[in-house]
Amino acid sequence: MDIVAVVGSGLIGRSWAMVFISGGYNVKLYDNQPGQAAKAITEIRKQLDELEEAHMLRGQLKASQQHALLSSHDDLAQALEGAFFVQECVFEQLEVKQSVFRDIECLVGEDVILSSSTSCLVPSNVFSKVQNRSRCLVSHPVNPPYYVKLVELVPHPETAAVVMDTARTFMTKVGQVPVCLRKEIDGFALNRVQAAIIAESWRLVQDGIISVQDIDLVMSEGLGMRYAFIGPMETMHLNAPDGLVDYMKRYGEGIRRVLASFGPVPEFSGESAKSVVKEMYELIPNDGQHLSARIARRDQLLMSLAKLKEEH
Ligand code: NAD
Repeated sequence: MDIVAVVGSGLIGRSWAMVFISGGYNVKLYDNQPGQAAKAITEIRKQLDELEEAHMLRGQLKASQQHALLSSHDDLAQALEGAFFVQECVFEQLEVKQSVFRDIECLVGEDVILSSSTSCLVPSNVFSKVQNRSRCLVSHPVNPPYYVKLVELVPHPETAAVVMDTARTFMTKVGQVPVCLRKEIDGFALNRVQAAIIAESWRLVQDGIISVQDIDLVMSEGLGMRYAFIGPMETMHLNAPDGLVDYMKRYGEGIRRVLASFGPVPEFSGESAKSVVKEMYELIPNDGQHLSARIARRDQLLMSLAKLKEEH
């Protein structure tokens, strides 16, 4: 019961592998590009050593012990042998995922849990070629899962409750923070909330109300300060002397008025998008050097925040 198969060894497959071994599980990593999984393991080992050096390695085991839990496979059947949980991390293309799960189902027992990392596809589409869908779910991570621990567990309409429970227990055991959706919905929860924030931020900039730099500060220095620790529901509950009902009595009408004034869904392209994009590129030039420096900064900050959250 301690073997997990990870199918697809790109960015997310590697991250999941690191999370699972940090919890002491054996991970068998497979990729359909020969040699790719082995290359991924070399990269993971390097990262584990760096994390250990920075005192950021997750779990109770040393980097060398975590190395020993990893193996790479170019053969799918071999990778799946003995696994109780399969985490699929292949390209975000429906047909690719459908065919991968059809292949996997033919090679594993009935009780093996089949889990997809998809960000944008609903389980009823991803698993439509699987015969026994009661053991299928989406486990949607947030990039990079090693520091951002949320994982959305999304059931197929036929997923058994016990499968959701097992997935939740497993994810908790490896140090992630699982949330369970009660039924599938396009965008799940995280991307729906994110889309709402993106849409209004974009409209405010496009309509000349605020600059790109300042709307980002609204999040990073304002809302984001709270949201790293308490969500919007608790925020409302705490922001009026007598709790949520009191908050809605005081502010509900204003919120409804503002919501009713929201504009249409932005195009995000064409003429109307040009000035928004220009402003962003002036702040952070769109070349590899600037972008990778900002990504490194983001990951470093997330690492520090993860550490801070652990202390609270
Ligand atoms: P990626 O392109 O980095 O990696 C995909 C890997 O899958 C590649 O190594 C490829 O060789 C392999 N692959 C392709 N077809 C395969 C097959 N048939 N069998 C086995 N391996 C196969 O992609 P990624 O960013 O790691 O994304 C993987 C999944 O995770 C996607 O569904 C994506 O939506 C989801 N996801 C990505 C992010 C993100 O920020 N990148 C966040 C959350 C979820």
